[in-house]
Order: sequence, then structure tokens, then C-alpha cells
Amino acid sequence: MVTPHLDLPLLAEGKVRRLYRLPDQPGRLLMVATDRISAYDHVLTPDVPGKGAILTNMSLWWFDHLADIVDNHLVSLDVPAEVTGRAMVVEELDMFPVECVVRGYLTGSGWAEYQRSHCVCGIQLPDGLQDGSRLEEPIFTPAAKAPQGEHDENIDYLHLVKLVGPEVAAQLHDLSLRIYQRAEEIARERGIILADTKFEFGRRADGTIVLADEVLTPDSSRFWDAETWRPGQGADSFDKQYVRDWLANESGWDRASDQEPPALPDDVVTATSRRYEEAWARLTGGEGFVEEDAPA
Ligand code: ATP
Ligand code: MG
Repeated sequence: MVTPHLDLPLLAEGKVRRLYRLPDQPGRLLMVATDRISAYDHVLTPDVPGKGAILTNMSLWWFDHLADIVDNHLVSLDVPAEVTGRAMVVEELDMFPVECVVRGYLTGSGWAEYQRSHCVCGIQLPDGLQDGSRLEEPIFTPAAKAPQGEHDENIDYLHLVKLVGPEVAAQLHDLSLRIYQRAEEIARERGIILADTKFEFGRRADGTIVLADEVLTPDSSRFWDAETWRPGQGADSFDKQYVRDWLANESGWDRASDQEPPALPDDVVTATSRRYEEAWARLTGGEGFVEEDAPA
């Protein structure tokens, strides 16, 4: 279903989400997750049906499970009927320009950096790690948010301090690791490895740091099947990796070119939906899903 445009002032249109102002609720925003999927900094076509609702429901589920660690931006689910299930009213925050990445396992851009330098974001790691190795302890590897269409850049802790100051940097570091540790435990009990994830935080006018954006979804995280995971050999995954792999290995698209990626074939779209549904079902047991309104 194409996500309807609402008759509200649009504050921002991201790759996946739209943020609207709510003129009768100052300081609040309506955050709508579309069914769009992005990979390698491109928005792909076509949409992945049901994805926006899964991202929204999963974020809500995690906010609830993390509430004793950190405040979050959720205000209410009192949203226009056309976007029920895929939207929430949130506090408007002053967002920090960083993605707070935590890695418990080495893969993706972390693995690429490790192969060059044995470091990730300035953190030295032991020799002999493989793609998919479990790290002795989770590491905080922030990235500076790039302008639309450009790639976020991994940064070291000193760079983070320059961006947000020493106190906020320490808070983002500690909160990110605490949230990861809680989420990793919850996922592990359900047969899922939370290999890595990224958080975005913002600040209230009184200085409180608040967890914002989406959290611990298959867009922002790598979820691996604990049964099939072997370091160096990958694992079945319930996240966007399937789409990245199709683009990189099967689509014939050259990532280094300035061409747009090709459209996803129907079977890839369906298999992607299934993975997102499986992530929801495994994590939550499938209870309490707020459905979208049936399309007209
Ligand atoms: P970005 O790299 O900025 O995340 P994106 O294309 O991934 O770009 P989306 O994730 O689709 O963008 O859109 C969500 C946008 O809303 C992000 O820019 C995020 O920082 C912002 N955002 C999330 N929560 C809040 C909030 N509570 N207040 C203000 N902005 C928010
Ligand atoms: Mg984003």
C-alpha cells in the first residue's frame, strides 16, 4: 500500500520516514514509517508491503522493554486513521548528528574497517577475527550523519566529543551500550543474535537525552538466527541483509557506478516481507500488533 500523504506541514522526508508538524500540538511531531526500503544509501523500488507497520510496532515494543533505562520520544498513538499502525506522535527533539552504533559481532562496515586496520572507530581489536565473529565485549562505534544520499562516516570517540561535547559523548556511549546489552539478552532468549544496531538520540529543552527515531528494527539492526550462525560463514538473518546481498551479488548492479539500483523482483520483495514478519514474530511472540487500516 502506498503510504498516503497527509494534509499536514511536512517537516522532513527521510529515506523511510516522514515527519509532519502537528499545528495543534506544539513541540510534537507525527512520525510516519512508509513501506520504503533503502540500501547502500539508495531508496529502492518497489515498496515492501507491511514494512512500515512492522518498524513502528517493533519500535513501540522495544521502547516498552527499555523504559527503565532511557526515556523515549513516544507521546501517543493518536494518529490520523490513514496511517494507523505505521505512525506515532513523538516529542520534537534537538537531534544529535550521530548514529550511535553498537556492535557485538564484527560485520558490515566494521568488518571492512577491521580488515584494513584491525581497528573499528579507533578501537583496537584482537588479530584473527572473521566476518561475523563475536566480539569479547560489545563496542560503541559512532558514525557522523551524512547529508541525504551520502554515506554516514564512522568516527572515533574524539571526533564524537568534538561534535557533541565530552559530557554528551559519555552519556551517548553509556546509554547505547546499556540498551544494546538489554536488547541482546532479550533477543538471545528468543533465538536471535543481535549482531549490531544503531540508535539516534535527541535532547529536550531541559537537556535530558531521549531515545528517538526507530529502535532495534530489522532496518537499524542485524538480527541473525542463533541456530545457524557460524563465524566466517554468516547466518540466516531477519533484516535488510537479504536485500543488500541480492543487490550486491545477484542484481548485476555496480554499487560504484552512479546508476540507480534496479527494481527488486517480486520474489525478493515477498521474501523481504517474510523476514521482517519473522523478526517480529520471533521477538514478540506476535502479540499486540497494531494493524494498518485496511486499504480503501
Ligand atoms: P537520516 O540519515 O537522517 O536518518 P533517513 O533518510 O534515514 O535519514 P529517516 O530515518 O527516513 O531518515 O527519517 C527519520 C528522520 O527523523 C531522521 O532524520 C531522524 O533523525 C529524525 N527524527 C527521528 N526522531 C525525531 C524526533 N523525535 N525529533 C526530531 N527528529 C527526529
Ligand atoms: Mg534514519
